[in-house]
Amino acid sequence: MIYPTIQSERLWRSLMEMAEIGQTSGGGVCRLALTDEDLAARELFVKWCEDARLTIRVDELGNIFARRAGSDLYAPPVMTGSHLDTQPLGGRFDGVYGVLAGLEVARTLNDAKIETTHPIDVVVWTNEEGSRFPAGCMGSAVFAGQRDLDVMLNLTDADGYSVKDELKRIGFDGPEKCGNVSIKALYEAHIEQGPILENASKTIGVVMSAQGLRCFWVHVSGIEGHAGTLPMDKRRDAFQGAARMAVAIDNLANTFVPHPVITIGVVNVGPGSRSTIPGTTSFMIDCRCPDEQGLNELEDEIKIICKGIAKTRGLEINIEMISKITPITFNKDCINSIRNAAEKRKLEHQDISSGAGHDACHVSFIAPVGMIFIPCEHGISHNETEYASPSDITAGAQVLFDVVVGAAKLE
Ligand SMILES: [Zn+2]
Repeated sequence: MIYPTIQSERLWRSLMEMAEIGQTSGGGVCRLALTDEDLAARELFVKWCEDARLTIRVDELGNIFARRAGSDLYAPPVMTGSHLDTQPLGGRFDGVYGVLAGLEVARTLNDAKIETTHPIDVVVWTNEEGSRFPAGCMGSAVFAGQRDLDVMLNLTDADGYSVKDELKRIGFDGPEKCGNVSIKALYEAHIEQGPILENASKTIGVVMSAQGLRCFWVHVSGIEGHAGTLPMDKRRDAFQGAARMAVAIDNLANTFVPHPVITIGVVNVGPGSRSTIPGTTSFMIDCRCPDEQGLNELEDEIKIICKGIAKTRGLEINIEMISKITPITFNKDCINSIRNAAEKRKLEHQDISSGAGHDACHVSFIAPVGMIFIPCEHGISHNETEYASPSDITAGAQVLFDVVVGAAKLE
């Protein structure tokens, strides 16, 4: 059977309408988790789902599940979705694309009066971005048993408001338990958030894996001194040591195989006075790589580099691991079904590894999961200028439709 085609104009209109909620002056979106803007977005999504005759359930962490019933009441659902929250200066497509592409799957099935065996759940995960409450992929991670529910409910934002109280305030503290659901498969469509597909002129990224992460604090201590009186060869300048470590780590990132990405985005220099030689410098290393063995080797190399430089410059060093995320390999059958769907629709595609973390990565611990990427202009994301073209939006949603309906089985 040839599957019906999705309505690209309807999907684009829905995306643009949703982007009006929390719209910023620079053309982006600010819709932090569990704010009034998030509430408005959730309400609009729920309204659209009800119009499409989907049944809404909300769990105790505010995850929303909009179900299109299947013919088999006992069959596990095929899930698809993403998140509606954004970064403080986020774009119109990150997350919301996956949610509304999922809704478009249900709308298209309705139009074609097609029944599936398995139910289809369009899901909105709570607080994926982690920008207001500092735990990214909160809803999906608790759902998949990767984070603790009570710890998350008690997490507070910078103003002291807790997840629990904010869920209650916006009326999304649902009755359903979070997690413990059996799932046939989950597919998430998302913009790539990087430049690879655009540079290769491909429309569909078949996501094979998501890279793992190691994050460290490096604390370097030397000896403070007067900036005017202490000769250069008598100094134990913590910042100068840290700076050399940063350069050596950057060189490592450029030569290591498989290619990692390493970022030093936080540097604290103490005491922080122009006329005092820095006695302490702490910096944070964010190191990501698609393979666990690679991450282990990078961790060892980074430690050797930093300790070696500290030693030659007479500095003390302490390296503290902050977080560790294992690389994810997505389900082979899900990967194949995405690739086959792209082939059948004659869409240019390539295999790709996800540089960012996504809700689907967490769900992959408890269910077969696949991800579909589409290009975003200049690889820009988490930015007001984030853009994906209507034709790529359509292509990704069509592949999503084909794989979700394939998994949910036609009657
Ligand atoms: Zn996202």
